[in-house]
Amino acid sequence: MTYRAPVAEMVFALRHVAGIDAVLASGGHDMAPEDLTAILDEAARLADEVIAPLDRAGDRHGARLDDGSVTTAPGWPAAYRAFVAGGWNGIGAAPEHGGQGLPHLVAAACTEMWNGASLSFGLCPLLTAGGIEALAQHGSPELKERYLGKLVSGEWTATMNLTEPQAGSDLSALRTRAEPAGDGTYRITGSKIYITYGEHDLTDNIVHLVLARLRDAPAGTRGISLFLVPKRLPDGSLNDLRCSGIEHKLGIHASPTCSMAFGDHGGAVGWLIGEENRGLACMFTMMNSARLNVGLQGVGVAEAAFQHALDYARERRQGRAPGASEPSPIVEHADVQRMLLTMKAYTAAARGICYLTAEGLDAAEGAGGRAAHERASLLTPVAKAFSTDIANEVASLGVQVHGGMGFVEETGAAQLMRDARILGIYEGTNGIQAIDLVTRKLPLADGATVRAQIAAMRRVAEGLLKDGSPGFGHAAARLREGIASLDRATSHLLKALASNRPQDALPGATPYLRLFGLTQGAACLARAGLASSAALRSGETDPAHAARIALARFFAENLLTAAGGLEQAVIDGSGFADDAALALAG
Ligand SMILES: Cc1cc2nc3c(=O)[nH]c(=O)nc-3n(C[C@H](O)[C@H](O)[C@H](O)COP(=O)(O)OP(=O)(O)OC[C@H]3O[C@@H](n4cnc5c(N)ncnc54)[C@H](O)[C@@H]3O)c2cc1C
Repeated sequence: MTYRAPVAEMVFALRHVAGIDAVLASGGHDMAPEDLTAILDEAARLADEVIAPLDRAGDRHGARLDDGSVTTAPGWPAAYRAFVAGGWNGIGAAPEHGGQGLPHLVAAACTEMWNGASLSFGLCPLLTAGGIEALAQHGSPELKERYLGKLVSGEWTATMNLTEPQAGSDLSALRTRAEPAGDGTYRITGSKIYITYGEHDLTDNIVHLVLARLRDAPAGTRGISLFLVPKRLPDGSLNDLRCSGIEHKLGIHASPTCSMAFGDHGGAVGWLIGEENRGLACMFTMMNSARLNVGLQGVGVAEAAFQHALDYARERRQGRAPGASEPSPIVEHADVQRMLLTMKAYTAAARGICYLTAEGLDAAEGAGGRAAHERASLLTPVAKAFSTDIANEVASLGVQVHGGMGFVEETGAAQLMRDARILGIYEGTNGIQAIDLVTRKLPLADGATVRAQIAAMRRVAEGLLKDGSPGFGHAAARLREGIASLDRATSHLLKALASNRPQDALPGATPYLRLFGLTQGAACLARAGLASSAALRSGETDPAHAARIALARFFAENLLTAAGGLEQAVIDGSGFADDAALALAG
């Protein structure tokens, strides 16, 4: 299985879908537009040549726990050292903390690559990046001084300790306790489960960010505080915490998923991040960045599955395509072409949505201000859930393209499908993302944020009409219909929320998120297609331009056509909630 980071496509999407040149022109980044390809080429070398070759063996070998220590798969520590030595861990972090301060857009493209090469590997720096953000925004000057530099360089890694057996999606139920020790530190006791890279042999120290409850804290999520609990204390001694087990799981075998025990001997030493009882707000800083990055994991694994399936379809011969006298490579059969185009189009659409989200983050730090921040907030659950839903579909299609060879482990298609399955579950399940989109993000700025996003999609549809190239087929009409469906579904949900009837909105949350993702994805592909159409008119001959136009057409004519049905599910389908208990019992 060989992943090759699609640098040219990524650069094109960064420029023509997400508008990286405007981000760079607005200043604040030590990077010239002409550096973009060179940076991504360099990242691609690491992803393709160092990380990707470890992925299959990592799946077979997995991570091992022995007497509290976790050993990662062979080659993993050396690959991590190469990753850190290249300065990749801190590319998005601020220069004052030792980072390179490159735009979120560049960091997003790199995240996609690490995860296209190996989801298990890419997860480790993904969590560290979230930890860096939470600490940079909410940590005290002393904590920043002690921990940020080493996290940014990658000398240490970070984890996110939220989940407990009784507290998964519902963090209000968490029980881990924190007691002030009287010297400015706290003692943490309790157990966490499913902690990614909670223990490993890649670095000497691991900085755990732990949600816990102080005595007398208010019940529910308003009584949760965030603590920094390092594996090694500042004097080098080991803290009172341990990995008590690692999970045997469906996929991402090389990423250790740890049960963590804090305070067997009186309490692990921790430091408060932010204010007491405001921990969830701090953790949300980390989770929002992590949610976009999990969306990018989806793009990465979908790209890997597509490449893998395309390679196979070009080799495998079965049957005769119309007009062929000899057995044809299966890539010549229309149904296989449909599968491969679906894979490629979904992947490019999800890439566009994730990059647009990252652009919102960049713009919010520049002149875009609050509106850009709200745009990124609106798009974050779509980037996370749509990209990871399609990652599962694409990886499953990858197995289908391989036929029986996909179902056996030999080719690696099955591994990609197993690995992708977690993406819709962690960092807030995709159901929780849909609820977040509908109940928290649609009402932003009294609905003006979502209306502005829909208006931007309309401008793309108008662009298609104006362009008029026959290569776009019926794309302009399908995009207009999709946008109209999204618009009506949005009005329906905003009305239900305004009249305080969440029971009319929540049942349609998941189909609404899909409708949003499909329409936004179609608009992203159309933007890329329009840029390619302009390039062809100006005399460029790169065949990638015609391919982008064909892909935008395929998506609009074959995938976006689900929009009408999704609209009906959102508007007319919510009645199932009234008789769900009855229907499930029958
Ligand atoms: C491999 C792996 C790695 C992980 N890494 C980490 C990590 O590093 N740190 C960490 O803290 N956690 C981690 N997790 C935990 C992960 O974030 C949780 O599993 C996830 O949030 C879901 O919680 P749960 O498993 O308790 O499922 P539940 O919350 O029990 O959810 C079960 C189902 O019910 C639905 N549901 C739940 N509540 C609602 C609701 N209010 N409305 C509608 N539907 C609802 C969910 O969408 C889901 O479909 C990891 C998990 C795995 C498997």
